[in-house]
This record gives sequence, structure tokens and C-alpha cells, in this order.
Amino acid sequence: MKGYINMNEYDQLWQKILNDLENIFSEELFVDVFEPLKKTHKFSNGQIYVVVPNEFIKNRINKFYINKINELAEKYNKDKIHFKFVTESELIPEETLISPERNLNLKYRPGNLNRSYTFDNFVVGKSNNFAFRMAMKVADQPGMVANPLYIFGDVGLGKTHLMQAIGNYILDNDIHKKIMYVKADGFIEDFANLLRKEKMDDFNQKYRDIDVLLVDDIQIMGGATKTQMEFFKLFDFLYHQNKQIVITSDKPASELKNIMSRLTSRFEVGLTVDIQVPDLEHRIEILKRKLATESSDIHDIPNNVLEFIASSFVTNIRELEGALKRVLFYCLANNLDLSLESVNEALEPLLKTKRKSNSLNENNYDKIQSIVSDFYGITVDDLIGKKRHLKYILPRHISMYLIKSKYNIPYKTIGMLFGGRDHSTVLAACEKIENEIKQDSSLKLAIETINKKIDHFTQN
Ligand code: ADP
Ligand code: MG
Repeated sequence: MKGYINMNEYDQLWQKILNDLENIFSEELFVDVFEPLKKTHKFSNGQIYVVVPNEFIKNRINKFYINKINELAEKYNKDKIHFKFVTESELIPEETLISPERNLNLKYRPGNLNRSYTFDNFVVGKSNNFAFRMAMKVADQPGMVANPLYIFGDVGLGKTHLMQAIGNYILDNDIHKKIMYVKADGFIEDFANLLRKEKMDDFNQKYRDIDVLLVDDIQIMGGATKTQMEFFKLFDFLYHQNKQIVITSDKPASELKNIMSRLTSRFEVGLTVDIQVPDLEHRIEILKRKLATESSDIHDIPNNVLEFIASSFVTNIRELEGALKRVLFYCLANNLDLSLESVNEALEPLLKTKRKSNSLNENNYDKIQSIVSDFYGITVDDLIGKKRHLKYILPRHISMYLIKSKYNIPYKTIGMLFGGRDHSTVLAACEKIENEIKQDSSLKLAIETINKKIDHFTQN
């Protein structure tokens, strides 16, 4: 904390500990993990913060070395001082809380908001129009319009972007608003730390003393029962004060697995919006917008090239962006014109793996259908057909269930593999089989046998 806290003594303490660690652990490990961590970042609530370059190193330290480090800290310092390792994105820089916009170059704003996710650079189309409009309304009047706002959609379609745009917008309007953005796994971790160290005050300060709570990827909380109970309390605490809550997920609240129903029913009291896959035109528009903001010399790409990229990356905007970056880089580095030919060359490795995994998986769906049909002595046509006789229905449901559990593709896609059945039919079938396996041991055995055959015959 440049300026008003003297970090010297903490840096000195850290240096002593680093020296010890260098002696204790192998050189290789030291260079890998600790070498980059030369300086401490700040001291707060009895903890010295050290910023680590990525999640991977953080987890490694927290798993294997943190105890040793704190042991050494206690040895050198009579006060009970502990170390905390955080990635840059986890910092809530107090300095910016005091003077929030002092440093406009910072990628992150108070509350963990990524400055680059704004409404302005969110390209609106049919697939996200409603979600966008509702997000704007919520940002305009937090706590008043829809609480919670629940946004769901497949990976890479802009949930995190939209959610953080809400936070950024609110902060732009009122610099004193306290926003907290957290991914569900970060919340789980904070809660685990709270239990370990009895730091209820820190936890409450972080999550209760706020105006807006943004929780990303709530599905990750599935199975974490104690965390869910704490989150439930937090939710009610904020909700009853009209504090805006926004939640994102990869599925509707009603389909969340292993999340307690008193939570999912809370999610449903507000407004649910979804984001779908953008159509071709929309994807081209996104590419154009990225190009205009990309700090690159190339701003004009022939239309056929844009179209080629946009038609090759259909289901995930992150991949689409990645492809564009790759093309720009490739052509720049090799001094090539942006022609269809060079773009094809640049993207070939990506397209190849895409083709491979698609066709492998598609083959495998076919195989599952034929293995299950064989097992029950029916034809594949009947398996995917419309006949509603029991002897077709069970194998049909079993194959849907197996494809879902092995490949986790969207219910809608599975429905397409079964003659265009809809999302909810497939969902119901999968849930039915999942429940019946628990009660019916002969069904369980049959599915295990089928599974063995599938593993034998499918490639990957
Ligand atoms: P999700 O959270 O749904 O997995 P993200 O919000 O992380 O997806 O989006 C993935 C990437 O695609 C981000 O870089 C984001 O900025 C970009 N993106 C997603 N939707 C849009 C959009 N409508 N306009 C512009 N960029 C978008
Ligand atoms: Mg996300």
C-alpha cells in the first residue's frame, strides 16, 4: 500500500521466510513456486497478502506450503501474523475503495469487477436481447426491478460479461456503491477459510456490507451443503434489504443438481433470463466489434473471411474471439494478407481438433443407440422413433441417459438425436432412469453391462 503503510517490515519478514524455504525445498520447486513472489502486497486484518501470478500457484501453496510458511512467520514474529496468497483478480484494493477511480489503468475495480466487461461492448442480438435489456433495467434500478436476476446459458455465451456489466454500470453511476463479484468456487473457498480460522467478521464484512452481490456459476455450489446454508442466510440478509443479487448458471434453477430447494426456489422469485447461441449474423457482428477494439493494426477484414471464422465457431463466443486473435496474430507474424487461404491455414489446427472430437462423439452417440437397441432386441429406428410401447420406451430412456451422463451435451441436442424430441422430454427421461437405478437392481445391472459394451466399442 504505497504511501501510507510502510511495507518494509513485512517485506523483510517475507524475505526471511523465502530464504528458509529456499533451504528447505528443492531448487526446482523454489524457482517454480516462490521465486516470482518477491514482494508483499499489503497488510490487512492480521494477514500479509502476497500476490501470486495464477490460481495454479495459489492452490499449490495453499495445499502444500501454507502451514510451513505460517509456522516460520510465527517463529520470526511475536504477533500472530499469517500470510494470505491471492491472485490479482481477488484483490479488493483498499486504496481504490478510498479513492475508487484513482488508477484507471487497473484491470479490476473494487469488488473484483473486470473493467472490460461493459454494456457498451456487449453485442446484442436475438440470442441475448431479453437478457441484455433486463440486465440494463436491473443496473439502472438495483434492487427494484427483479431480484434476484438469474441468468443462465451454456459456457462462453456472455453470462459473466453481462453480470459484470451490471456491476460496472452501477459503479459508474455511483462510485460509493459496494459491489461484490464472486465465482461460486471463490465463495466456497472463503467459507471454508472462515470455518478454519473463525474469521466470521472478515467474511461478513466482505459479503454483507455491500449493495450488490454478483455470484457467478452457482452450479459449482452443487453438493457443498454447508456453503449453501451460509449462502442461504446471506441471500436472505441481502434480499430483505432490497440489495440487488445477480446469479449466473449453466442451467435453469429448477434443473440445478444437489442444490437445496429452498435456495433454488429463492432464485425463482426474481426474474430468470437465458442467453442462447448467437446466429451467424450476430457472430459476425461480434467479430467486427472485437476487431474495432482490438489493439491491432488490422481493422479491415474481407467479409468472406469474417464469415468463414463466424461459421466455423458456432457455439462459444470465447472460442470465436480466440479464433480471431489467432488469425490476426498468425497473419501478422507471417506477414500474410488476410485472405481466405491464410485464415484457413491459421485456423487449421483448431478446426482439426474440433472436427475430430465432433465426429468421434457423433459416432459414439450412434454406437450407444445401436448397442442399447441390440441389448433389448429392437431396431435403432424403433429406438429413436415415435412408438410408445413399453419395450421401446425403456431402451430409449436408457440411451438418452447414457449419452447425457457420458458426454454431458445439452438436452436439446440429445433430443435431436432422438427424432427431434424436446429438451424437457429428454430431461425427464434422464431423471427417471437416474432414480430408477437407485431402486431397481436389475436395471442397474443391465445398465452396467451396457456400459461395459459401450466402453469397449467407443473410441476417444
Ligand atoms: P460465460 O460466462 O457465459 O461462460 P463470458 O461472459 O465469459 O461467457 O464470455 C466469453 C467471452 O465472450 C468474453 O470474452 C466476453 O466478453 C465475450 N462475449 C460474450 N458475449 C458477448 C457479446 N454479446 N458481445 C461481445 N462479447 C461477448
Ligand atoms: Mg462465466
